[in-house]
Amino acid sequence: MGNRNEKDHGSDCDVQGRERPMFRKAEILFLDSVQLDPSVHLPHPMSRSRSGPRSSFNHIFMTWEDHVVRIPVSREPAEARLVKDGEVDTFSIIKEDEVLASGLEMVEAPIHAPGQAFISLRNRCIYDCAFCEIASSCTPAEEDGPDDLTPSQWVERIAPLVEEGRIRSIAVTSGVWPDDAATFVEILDVVRLSRARWPNIPIGVEPNPAEGPVLDILRSMGATEIKINVQCADPSIYPDICAGLDLPSVLHSLEAAVGTFGWGKVTSNIIIGLSSADSIRSMIDRLCSMGVVPTLRPLAVTDANRDRLERFVDPDHGPEQVIELSKYAAKALEKNGLTTRKFRTMCLACGGCDLVPLWDVGPGRGVEELP
Ligand code: SF4
Repeated sequence: MGNRNEKDHGSDCDVQGRERPMFRKAEILFLDSVQLDPSVHLPHPMSRSRSGPRSSFNHIFMTWEDHVVRIPVSREPAEARLVKDGEVDTFSIIKEDEVLASGLEMVEAPIHAPGQAFISLRNRCIYDCAFCEIASSCTPAEEDGPDDLTPSQWVERIAPLVEEGRIRSIAVTSGVWPDDAATFVEILDVVRLSRARWPNIPIGVEPNPAEGPVLDILRSMGATEIKINVQCADPSIYPDICAGLDLPSVLHSLEAAVGTFGWGKVTSNIIIGLSSADSIRSMIDRLCSMGVVPTLRPLAVTDANRDRLERFVDPDHGPEQVIELSKYAAKALEKNGLTTRKFRTMCLACGGCDLVPLWDVGPGRGVEELP
């Protein structure tokens, strides 16, 4: 899967209510972890990633129909279980004797995401975002970790996977370390070295907010898509959530990115559950009107961030809210001539952690039910 193929979206029109895959996926996204039944022998290795929600867990990627979901797994007892479906090579997720999903197939994610090398360069950061597991786990005194590869080491590592066809796109992100400029140069190096080797491969970049000329360099070196994250949609709590960053600068940078990369080639994370649904809806409208495709990320409250986040969590945060906001975004995207389905890199192409508008929710999947 990974860069998911265009498929007919009408196949589940006749599936009603909570049986719809979008409800099931939304519920799975809220599981803290899933216990692997002792009889389960996974066909691919688990991935242990440095980014994305619940990154302290091992993960597996499962697919059913054209949905993909990333599942935090453990051999310890958990709130749900993954079991094998009899003699066939598919699996089910069971929670309190209810089957949340069955017929799941495992897909490999050799470097973070299916079909995509999503490189996370630095596992430490000078910023201190309240939701981020990198921020809460690093100290300024730490040296480079043993798995902090250089840009050229990363390109050497992914080369055989590209040649075998197991990786079809590349994305680069990083904690900011030791500063913005050095991090930008490292991201740029991955882009430059990858583009020199693979003239046609899609390359996504996820830098910190930057001015237009800096974004022009990324584009001219071969990046094809870009993500600059809003994260917190509510300006009144933004300084508490994203200390050291500034929402107007992020929006200004997104505007410049659309000028450089094009309408519909820019995306931005909005975290659902950190601020009210109203502020998220208005940020969705604002981004879509600028040509930016929102990536709606359900907040994951974990042991690493609970103390700092608890007072900001929207009490309505849950699967139903994620579905409602994803439907809202699907409509806003269509109104502005945008789609999630053309992205070839980063989270919109992967879809493992989010209920993606126009992938998981969209025409034939319930968007028409919006008031
Ligand atoms: S959706 Fe994004 S963060 Fe989640 S696994 Fe996929 S690429 Fe990683």
